[in-house]
This record gives sequence, C-alpha cells and structure tokens, in this order.
Amino acid sequence: MSQTEAVAKGKVVTLQYRLTDEHGKLLDESDQEGMEYLHGADNIVPGLERKITGRGVGDKLSVVVTPEEGYGKRSGGSQKVPRDSFPDDVELEVGMQFLAEGAGGKPMPVWVVGVTPTEVEIDANHPLAGVTLNFEVEILAIRPATSEEIAHGHPHGPEGHHHH
Ligand code: ZN
Repeated sequence: MSQTEAVAKGKVVTLQYRLTDEHGKLLDESDQEGMEYLHGADNIVPGLERKITGRGVGDKLSVVVTPEEGYGKRSGGSQKVPRDSFPDDVELEVGMQFLAEGAGGKPMPVWVVGVTPTEVEIDANHPLAGVTLNFEVEILAIRPATSEEIAHGHPHGPEGHHHH
C-alpha cells in the first residue's frame, strides 16, 4: 500500500473529527482512534465527503457544511402518535431513530423528539437538519475496502467484526 494513497470511492477512511454548530457548540467528536467510514457510500454527509475526496493521510481540514450538503433543511413539523402504536417492549427515548412507513409504503426515517406515557412525538427531520456543520477533521488512515464492505456499504472494522 502506498503512503500517497488518496481518498476515493471504495476506500475505507479513518477520520478523527470534531463537529460544532455555528455557535461553536460541540455536537459530536470521534475518539483518538478515529472513526472508519466507507467513502462514496453515503456514510457521512455529502458536503464533508466531497471535501475529503482526493486528500491523503495526515491531511487536516476545516470544513463548513451547509444544511443543503449536510442533514438537509428542516421541513414540516413534528407529530404526535399514540404510545400504543409502538411495541410494548421498546424503550422509547428522545433521540431514537426508527423507520416509519412513509408515502406509498416507502420506509422513512423518523426521530423521537418527545415521549409521554400516552403519546410519542416524532419528527421526520434529522436532529441536525437546518444546522450549519463545522467539521475539524484529520485523515488518519486510508485502505481499500473489501468486497464484502462494498457490498454492505459500510466498513467492518480493523478485525473484520460484524457490528450489525
Ligand atoms: Zn456489514
């Protein structure tokens, strides 16, 4: 493997990152070992992926991602559904994501934004929709993805563990 390998589709990239919003509030960060993702497979937001393309190990970047290239603009509001439309054995918490049946029976991701004993408030907007994202990233490693990783659309970790 070459030291000058560049980030491209089909590569597993290890990123160390720190994500803040436009007010400097910390939203998310990787640990020291970084986070692996599969490039070109929608594992990370498009605006960040585009800026990392072609970069190499050791590169540090500051990337500002608009909502359009991040988690989208907010559209529509939340809605309340009866608690008993969820299985009893599911522990519902704010921030949980699940797939609901959208228009035409198409699965649609929704997030839980509120829970009461009788009602659950859900929102189809990603929690970071409408937020300008400021990423500080460093590329720690780049390797070719295995054919299994490409088929699954995500990396399987250094030991090839299956995490799903
Ligand atoms: Zn997999």
